[in-house]
Amino acid sequence: MTRVGVFGAAGRMGRTVCEAVAADPALELVAAVDPHHAGIDLRRVADVDSALQVAASPDALVDAGAEVVVDFTVADAARQNIAFAAQHGLHAVVGTTGFTDADLAAIEAAFTESSCLVAANFAIGAVLMMRFAELAAPWFETVEIIELHHDTKIDAPSGTAMRTAERIAAASSEWADDPTTTTVVEGARGGEGPGGIPIHSVRLRGLFAHQEVLLGTAGQSLSIRHDTYDRTCYMPGVLLAVKHVAQRPGLTIGLEPLLDLG
Ligand code: NAD
Repeated sequence: MTRVGVFGAAGRMGRTVCEAVAADPALELVAAVDPHHAGIDLRRVADVDSALQVAASPDALVDAGAEVVVDFTVADAARQNIAFAAQHGLHAVVGTTGFTDADLAAIEAAFTESSCLVAANFAIGAVLMMRFAELAAPWFETVEIIELHHDTKIDAPSGTAMRTAERIAAASSEWADDPTTTTVVEGARGGEGPGGIPIHSVRLRGLFAHQEVLLGTAGQSLSIRHDTYDRTCYMPGVLLAVKHVAQRPGLTIGLEPLLDLG
């Protein structure tokens, strides 16, 4: 059994990770760290049958003999948590967003004894959607991305939509010109993403996270759609990373290398 500790254990993602780890027979949840919720029983924030208390300090991970730590916190906290993991030879799986290229370079330099995997999207379906879109790109002349999210998301377009456009643009540069000569309402053709690919952002109460890539050519179109409904969508990807991170020395970015996508 791999011994797992969770940073941000009382947060929305952290508590879902605690539940997923506790439910996996190959993993053991040994520590939960969240300084803003320290001292409370983990049972009060997560649906787990565990006697663990939420700890204030990352030392709890070392004391409990954690081998892999998972971090879903905020970028400032995660920088410190990741450095702690590297210093103590713990493997790290990181889902926190907001890292710069300099942060990633620092993480890569720090993990000399143990390994780290950082992924901005742990939903395996989203990773596949991007790969399928990239494969399809050279066979179509027009492409647009529609991303749809819950009504509390404050940034647009989503990071996944931007990354999808980047990858489509890298896979093909042969796109037809936009025929629009009259824009009746500003923004009607969406925002211009990487490679000039239009991205349309929908914010709607009741949604979680969804994306559709529409590709068109003469007489046919291809829609690649991914829908998620709650945070459990990320858990198969997180658990996969927890189980494989130790076998990947240094820094791994994204889930792709674990999915054998060719
Ligand atoms: P949240 O605010 O619900 O939870 C964050 C938790 O981190 C809080 O409980 C907070 O107390 C805790 N925290 C703060 N500082 C800490 C520290 N130093 N040590 C330990 N815990 C600390 O946020 P959330 O919705 O769970 O999202 C967390 C992060 O995960 C965000 O960056 C979000 O963008 C990212 N996220 C990534 C994915 C993905 O697939 N990679 C999916 C969803 C969310």
